[in-house]
Amino acid sequence: MAKKTIRDLNVDNKTVLVRVDYNVPMQDGKITDDNRIVASLQTLNYLIEHHAKIVLFSHMGKVKKEEDKAKNDLRPVAEYLSKVLNQEVLFSPETRGEGLETMIKALEPGQILLVQNTRYEDLDGKKESGNDPELGKYWASLGDVFVNDAFGTTHRAHASNVGIASQLDSGLGFLVEKEVKFLGDAVDQPERPFVAILGGAKVSDKIKVIEKLLSKADKVLIGGGMAYTFFKSKGYEIGNSIVEDDRLELAQEILAKAGDKLVLPVDNVIADAFSNDANTQIVKSEEIPEGWEGLDVGPETVKLFTEILSTAKTVVWNGPMGVFEMETFAKGTNGVAQALADLEGQATTIVGGGDSAAAINQLGYDSKFSHISTGGGASLQYLEGTPLPGVEAIEDI
Ligand code: AMP
Repeated sequence: MAKKTIRDLNVDNKTVLVRVDYNVPMQDGKITDDNRIVASLQTLNYLIEHHAKIVLFSHMGKVKKEEDKAKNDLRPVAEYLSKVLNQEVLFSPETRGEGLETMIKALEPGQILLVQNTRYEDLDGKKESGNDPELGKYWASLGDVFVNDAFGTTHRAHASNVGIASQLDSGLGFLVEKEVKFLGDAVDQPERPFVAILGGAKVSDKIKVIEKLLSKADKVLIGGGMAYTFFKSKGYEIGNSIVEDDRLELAQEILAKAGDKLVLPVDNVIADAFSNDANTQIVKSEEIPEGWEGLDVGPETVKLFTEILSTAKTVVWNGPMGVFEMETFAKGTNGVAQALADLEGQATTIVGGGDSAAAINQLGYDSKFSHISTGGGASLQYLEGTPLPGVEAIEDI
C-alpha cells in the first residue's frame, strides 16, 4: 500500500513534528560526518518554505546510564544545522515538560526547534526504545502533523517514530520516500541484468537477504567473511578464517539451490595474523593453508566480479569484501567500489548503508552512485522484504 508523503500533508502554518536521523559520528564535540544532516535538508527546506513551525526529534547513540548523556548530547547538532541552514535553530535541552512546551508554543512560522536526544527517555525504563504509549502520545500532543524522515531507524518501533505516527496525521519525508523507492524498485522491478553483491562478516546476519536476492537477481556475488562458511560447506580447508560451523548445512542448501547464480571468490588474500602488518599471500580459494586466515578477496576475484558487473543495469551492494578497516585488506572492497563507480551513467547502483557506504565515502566516490542508503540495518531489512515498522505506521494514501 502506498504511504502518504510530506506532500500529502497540510503543513502550512502548522506545528510539524519531524523525526530526523541526526545520529551522526562525533569526536570531541565535533561532527565528523554530516551526511545524515545534509540528507534531511530537502524536507526541512520544504517545511520552511511552507511556513511550518518545525520541531525535530532524533536519537543519538545509546543512553543506558546517566554518564551516557553527555557524549550523546544533541546540542552541537543544533549549532551545526543552524550554520548549514543559515538560520537560527533553537534547542530544547529537555525531552518533555513545561520548558519544551513553552518553546514550541512560541515558534514562529519557518522557525526550527531541535529536541534533546529522544533516548534520554530510555534512562527511565526504555520509554523511547520500548515505544512507551504514553510517551508517544505526549510527543504527538505537541504538534499537528508528523513527518518521518529518519530512514536509519525505520526498522525499529520506537516512541519517536511509530508512537507519534500512530497518533497524528502522518507522512514520509523526502529522504525516507527516496530510500524506499530506490531499494524497493531495485528488488521489485530491476532493469536487468540485476547483480547483487553481499559481503560482511557473517552468513547468519544475511541469510534472508541472500535468499531474497537469489530469487530476484541474475547473479549474487559473495565476498567477505561469509564466503568462508560457504567454502567450508564445500569441503575446502579454510585454515583460521572466520566461519559459522552451525550454518554449514544451510550454506550447502543455498549453494545447491542457487547453482551458478551464486558466485564465490576464486582467490583470497590470506594472513598469518589478524593484523595490518601480518605476512600475506594470495591463494586460490581451495588452497588456504593451515594457520592462515582469509581477510580479503584476491585480485582474480576483483577481476571476475568487475567483469560480471560490467554489463549490469542494476546493482545492489551490502557489506565489505574483506577487513577493509585495515589498508592491507581493503583492496577487494575498493576494487568493487571502483567497478561500481565505473558504471556511472550505465546502471542504477545502490549501496545499502553501513560499512560499504563508509568505504565509498572514504574513496570520495559517493557522487558516482545512484543511491547510498543512510540506514544499514533498515536497508538490509527492506531488501529482505521484511516490512519496516517506521514506514508501516505512516498513513496509507
Ligand atoms: P557486516 O557488519 O556484517 O557487514 O560486517 C562488516 C565487518 O565484516 C567489517 O568490520 C569487516 O572487517 C568484517 N569482515 C569482512 N571480511 C572479513 C573476513 N574475511 N574476516 C573477518 N572479518 C571480516
